[in-house]
Amino acid sequence: MEKHEINANKEALNKRSKKKPSTKNNIIKTVPEYCKGCGLCVDICPTGTLLLGDAIENKFGVSIVVDAPDYCIGCKMCEMRCPDFAIFVNYEKEKV
Ligand code: SF4
Ligand code: SF4
Repeated sequence: MEKHEINANKEALNKRSKKKPSTKNNIIKTVPEYCKGCGLCVDICPTGTLLLGDAIENKFGVSIVVDAPDYCIGCKMCEMRCPDFAIFVNYEKEKV
């Protein structure tokens, strides 16, 4: 990973260290083939749930990782921020 991606992960882990796991059972679904690893969702997530990770199968070599799903509060900021429709929160739950 490149320096700005490593820094994005450090920031996310720092945010997470100040939070507690959520009491809600939120479901995060990613579509790795759509993800370009831009890190916008990692930056905007208030709880440090998401990180970037190496992904050789992705053409950009980096992809989103739901590293700490227990910390997700279901705010959907990641879903709204993603320009590539690569992350959805509670999609199946709300469809039914
Ligand atoms: S829904 Fe909110 S808390 Fe959950 S991963 Fe997305 S931005 Fe983070
Ligand atoms: S899920 Fe979307 S916002 Fe997050 S890194 Fe991938 S393309 Fe960027």
